[in-house]
Amino acid sequence: MNTQPTASHFINGAYVEDKSGEEIPVIYPATGEVIATLYAATPAIIEQALAAAEAAQKEWASWTGTERGRVLRRAADIMRERNHDLSVLETFDTGKPYQETSVVDATSGADALEYFGGLAAAITGEHIQLGENFVYTRREPVGLCVGIGAWNYPTQIACWKAAPALACGNTMVFKPSETTPLCALKVAEILFEAGAPAGVYNVIQGYGAVGAALVTDRRVDKVSLTGSVPTGRKVYAAAAEGIRHVTMELGGKSPLVIFDDANLENAVSGAILGNFYSSGQVCSNGTRVFVQSGIKDAFLERLTERLKGVKMGDPQDPEVNYGPMVSERQLGIVEGFIEKGIAEGARLVTGGKRVDRPGFYIEPTVFADVTDEMTIATDEIFGPVMSVLSFETEEEVLPRANATEFGLSAGVFTADLTRAHRMVAGFEAGTCYINTYNDAPVEAPFGGSKLSGVGRENSKAAIEHYSQIKGVFVRMGDLEAPF
Ligand code: NAD
Repeated sequence: MNTQPTASHFINGAYVEDKSGEEIPVIYPATGEVIATLYAATPAIIEQALAAAEAAQKEWASWTGTERGRVLRRAADIMRERNHDLSVLETFDTGKPYQETSVVDATSGADALEYFGGLAAAITGEHIQLGENFVYTRREPVGLCVGIGAWNYPTQIACWKAAPALACGNTMVFKPSETTPLCALKVAEILFEAGAPAGVYNVIQGYGAVGAALVTDRRVDKVSLTGSVPTGRKVYAAAAEGIRHVTMELGGKSPLVIFDDANLENAVSGAILGNFYSSGQVCSNGTRVFVQSGIKDAFLERLTERLKGVKMGDPQDPEVNYGPMVSERQLGIVEGFIEKGIAEGARLVTGGKRVDRPGFYIEPTVFADVTDEMTIATDEIFGPVMSVLSFETEEEVLPRANATEFGLSAGVFTADLTRAHRMVAGFEAGTCYINTYNDAPVEAPFGGSKLSGVGRENSKAAIEHYSQIKGVFVRMGDLEAPF
């Protein structure tokens, strides 16, 4: 493949290598083979990246929003032109089927670059008249931002952080997940090619220790993490030491509530999209599927039938619609949860087994007769394991749906519109769906409440999290003082 990044890091407009860093093997999840070796950032590389981002920030912020936006929109165009190659790389990085990556990853990254590119010129302060005096506000960048990514959507996560950060006049040092280190490098390369000055967007590799070193550096003004709740706790606490701004996009255990009157076919589609897309490795997945008792048998029957449409295989084959887990480790975690589900008395309806072929494949798995306190209903699995729980009434299901420390997403399928809006008003979650699941257009805010996070990505709301307001009081007349 001639589209692979040529070194581990991209700093100050160029690829940089330092082989004295800890090795990071890149493993193709579909075969288990090592396809590349990268090196974690050494203290010298971390220093280079932070120094470059710091040096570039004031100049980048001095450009007009229109000028910055033009760079982002150009980058979006390049990403779309190279969608095929970027999707192939995303599939090598993550193991997700090309059928998905070719329509979701570089394309949603490009959407973010285009959206925030368009918005950049409209990021303004306001004027507040106070008699003859007045206040005006300046919406200023936060400064030097650190982005840290998870492994499920490496291109998208890199772009969802870069686009609003750069639109607001910030610079960024981004550390991808050590499990999927390749794609963010291409984002850096493309932004530079599109005209972002050297140092505006830098990518360095590393395990948690590199992330930790970035978060506590005195030059860093903001940290945006996409990852698990335990990592979020550590990063939030470390950022607090310097009173740094944070965005935390963390895990979930989201409810999907299906009422008797729902369109069955659509509800099954929602449950499939919310549990098995990307082999279940999606933070917002609706993994606790509450089905009203009158429709439960029909739902399980139709779901089992539809799962016969799963086509496993080489994820680079465009006909394949279901890929492996990202790593042997993640596969093991999923197998552990499946064993627990069986041991705690849930009924295995379908799936449950590792697939006998190279790579990290596990069957899409459905458990029925799951109760609220079973481990598979309380813990984030981050794999293709659906828990079906049953319920009788709306009054009963809402508190059960909310009885979790997480609050990322929630969905409802029903034909009764007033009930749908009532349910959504009652859900303790940042991102909700009515008669659909897991749509994530850049125009809509995305993020969690409770343990699932702080701040929002995408939409105009992201601007609030990558800029700060300066209030300026202007007096037009004489100033009185007591003495
Ligand atoms: P993870 O928490 O293990 O790692 C996330 C990132 O944090 C990695 O880049 C890792 O190297 C880094 N890291 C680890 N320890 C660190 C430390 N002490 N300081 C700084 N950085 C550190 O998560 P993961 O396994 O890569 O991803 C899966 C998790 O991410 C799931 O919980 C999932 O729900 C969540 N996720 C959330 C969203 C969202 O938008 N809400 C999106 C995707 C994934």
